[in-house]
Amino acid sequence: MKMVLRMGDDSASMLKQFCEEYDVGCVYWNKGHTPETRDKEEKYRSTLSSLEIACIESQSSLLYDPIDIALSNGFNGGHWGTLMPFLRSCRKQGQPRKPIPRHETFTMLENMKGPNTWPSSKSLDELDLAVINGKERWDLPIVERFPMSEEDALANMNSFFEKGFAKYETSRSRADIEFSTSKLSAHLRVGTLSPNELYYKVEGSELEYDQRKTFTRRLAWRDLAYFHLRCFPKMMDTSIRSHYEETEWVAGHEEARRFNAWKNGKTGFPLVDAAMKELYKTGWMTQSLRMIVASFLVEYLRVNWVKGCDYFHYTLADADTAINSMMWQNAGRSGIDQWNFVMSPIAGSQDPTGKYTRTWLPELSNLPTSVLHKPWEASEEVLKNAGVTLGNSYPHRIIVDLKSERQKSIESVLEMRRKNQSRNTDRGYDLIKLPNGEDTVVFTKKEFRIDNDGNVITTNNSSRGKNTEPRGGGRGRKGQKKMLRHQNQV
Ligand SMILES: Cc1cc2nc3c(=O)[nH]c(=O)nc-3n(C[C@H](O)[C@H](O)[C@H](O)COP(=O)(O)OP(=O)(O)OC[C@H]3O[C@@H](n4cnc5c(N)ncnc54)[C@H](O)[C@@H]3O)c2cc1C
Repeated sequence: MKMVLRMGDDSASMLKQFCEEYDVGCVYWNKGHTPETRDKEEKYRSTLSSLEIACIESQSSLLYDPIDIALSNGFNGGHWGTLMPFLRSCRKQGQPRKPIPRHETFTMLENMKGPNTWPSSKSLDELDLAVINGKERWDLPIVERFPMSEEDALANMNSFFEKGFAKYETSRSRADIEFSTSKLSAHLRVGTLSPNELYYKVEGSELEYDQRKTFTRRLAWRDLAYFHLRCFPKMMDTSIRSHYEETEWVAGHEEARRFNAWKNGKTGFPLVDAAMKELYKTGWMTQSLRMIVASFLVEYLRVNWVKGCDYFHYTLADADTAINSMMWQNAGRSGIDQWNFVMSPIAGSQDPTGKYTRTWLPELSNLPTSVLHKPWEASEEVLKNAGVTLGNSYPHRIIVDLKSERQKSIESVLEMRRKNQSRNTDRGYDLIKLPNGEDTVVFTKKEFRIDNDGNVITTNNSSRGKNTEPRGGGRGRKGQKKMLRHQNQV
């Protein structure tokens, strides 16, 4: 099997030229599912149809093609665009396709008739790929952590199923345990592992449904993100709840001060800093830490989620337009499934042994675990014995009063919602516009729900007008608890 490499500014005209030169009969490609790849594929289709050349598009990067999923608006066992209605719609399409055994696809390719003379090809060196100059080979830890081949992906998957999968339900939020999650995201992102292969590996396991359901759901979240992206192609930097664009964030010099400290792992909150160091160094951090740092940036530092999303996209080895923006939109409250929780940057439940934080912040390694996640509570003596000088060997906290920062955060959302009463239902839920122009109600956190006069709805003043959500949409205490559980299972 040979590969032909070409380079140019316009891939559609290069494809045209190539097809004409080599009398191509049919062109195959795998769908990309982003707005950019959709535009490109549209150009390929029209180029090929003008040449009367057949094209065959396959869909193997997701379990289901988002184009086949239809959701009716309103609350259908879950608000529009949330996991449960989405899963039901997927199931209507049947089971995901079984992966085709590798030897079959390769035999098929090898049996294909190639041209008599192979087209000329550029060499890899001629492709003008980015070159990493400078003394420090910053790419090495990333490349070493994520060697990207199909063999690596399969070996990685098999190790996880041997050593981590059975404990996934209970250990997945732990950053201090090896194999607590699969670390397969980069392979799924670039295609060195098929989601179908992973799906059937899970289905074929001996574990009971309850012991494997969260992992399967995470694969479904992946598809859900692409469904959101199909409906809201600008979601990488534009609020899905469009009125949330008016939310006031911290600005100017203060924004830069906070954002830079966050990016560089210098906020003075050890778990946040350790996670940001791991991200920069290796291009990855586990989901529970992504949630900690995202929640911290948005809820406490009050920096616009778009900046965090952008930085993640720049640094993650698994950077994925759809998943990254879905998660940041939800953290930034403007997404379909606004987070119904705020993660504590100091509780440290993701690293109860302290092993993780000590790995990424060796300057704190001698601190006792009891104060490792909040060194400002350590006595002078403890700090001295551990060789830590706050403000010198490790930064002071960038913000001190977490509670008041959170309150300002809530106020800015409430203020924006008061100015947009036309997007508020009688029960205080947000309305969003769907691509077909219809409005739908989306889940809105209790603390953001306001009545027609702009007052926060408490159980006493809850107005039940004509535009009410169906039962379950309001989420009473039981519903709230369930929601929290559901969110923790993201
Ligand atoms: C703020 C934020 C940004 C994120 N950005 C990305 C991103 O750019 N790319 C990315 O792949 N994931 C992203 N995630 C989701 C998740 O954190 C990663 O997929 C996961 O940590 C990858 O590790 P893993 O392969 O060990 O996951 P596992 O827990 O082993 O999960 C298996 C697979 O399921 C998928 N998956 C897991 N969680 C989610 C999720 N919440 N949404 C969609 N799919 C999921 C991934 O493909 C993952 O590889 C983000 C999460 C947050 C909170």
